[in-house]
Amino acid sequence: MSIDTTKLETLLSASRNIVLIGHLNPDGDALGSVTAAYHYLKTRGKQPRIILPSPYPDNMSFLEPEDPADHIVICEKSPDEARRLVAAADLLICLDFNRLSRTEYLEQDILAARGRKVLVDHHLAAELDRFDLAISTVEVSSTCELLYRILLAMPDIDGDPNRIPLRCAESLYVGMMTDTNNFSNSVFPGTFEMASRLIARGVDKQDLQEKVLSCYSVSRTRLLGHMVKDKMVVLPKHKAAYMLLSNKEKERYHFVPGDSEGFVNLPLAIRDVRVSALFTENSDGKYVRVSLRSKSEINVNRFAIRFFNGGGHRNAAGGRLYIPLDDVPAYFEQALEAWPEEEKFS
Ligand code: 5GP
Ligand code: MN
Repeated sequence: MSIDTTKLETLLSASRNIVLIGHLNPDGDALGSVTAAYHYLKTRGKQPRIILPSPYPDNMSFLEPEDPADHIVICEKSPDEARRLVAAADLLICLDFNRLSRTEYLEQDILAARGRKVLVDHHLAAELDRFDLAISTVEVSSTCELLYRILLAMPDIDGDPNRIPLRCAESLYVGMMTDTNNFSNSVFPGTFEMASRLIARGVDKQDLQEKVLSCYSVSRTRLLGHMVKDKMVVLPKHKAAYMLLSNKEKERYHFVPGDSEGFVNLPLAIRDVRVSALFTENSDGKYVRVSLRSKSEINVNRFAIRFFNGGGHRNAAGGRLYIPLDDVPAYFEQALEAWPEEEKFS
């Protein structure tokens, strides 16, 4: 994949105050891509700041900026600081989301901002016309893989991964590793090449894997057991399975953001389950978060758009339901019934 970075280079050269923005409920790719961009821009003498709409998983906090003055601004906690940064930026770089509404609170501020706007993303159907520059493709595992390719094409890196700052390389690796579920989905030939070259660069794969994937509390592991044993419902007729996670259970198992990462994949290990869903009551009780996964021949992206107010990728999508958690099982079964066959296998 060849990427023309001429316009990006021009925008970067002309900007000093740069804000890097990720999506609500940031995952490894969102946090990895904003921190990778931060670590790179910092070495270029820029003043990048990171804004995330809501808190990120604690186990990835080692990717954060070292300088306390550059702390990540969480919009839910410091909305005024986030808005001030957006308004003051020369350049706004949005990473790992296709629609500005995925920033939840910041959409209008971003639209009204005087700074130029760049999108770097790997989701389907990105809002390209809302940006001065959009670098968007679905032919990569993750935003971090796309960012890796962009960095290689920048004049100062000039195709040499050894010129990527180590902390930036670590962030890129973590985003790719988490979005591929540790190399088990959306892996392209270029993904392995990226991993190989970043490891040669000095990234400690084992260390990152242990920090990010083997870091959970006892209560999180017990919650996982409870979900699979007591909460998983299998619907053989639809080759589907689902689990509900309530706020009461979150409290009982001392839930922290990131604890349910990977739960939705577990039912897919069952031979005859082709679609898996995890429904999580949001902490404010105002809506239910939806996570969908599918085996390769099934497309859950349009399922998420049609029935769950969301979107995502072919085999991993998400959205929201504005109904009580108790009503979700009936809604999910109706959605499975009403799912047009041609969309399911598209
Ligand atoms: P997850 O299940 O890990 O939260 O999300 C899986 C995929 O679905 C991610 O790539 C994410 O971008 C997408 N996704 C999750 N929630 C939403 C949502 O509310 N709206 C849209 N458009 N996409 C979502
Ligand atoms: Mn991603």
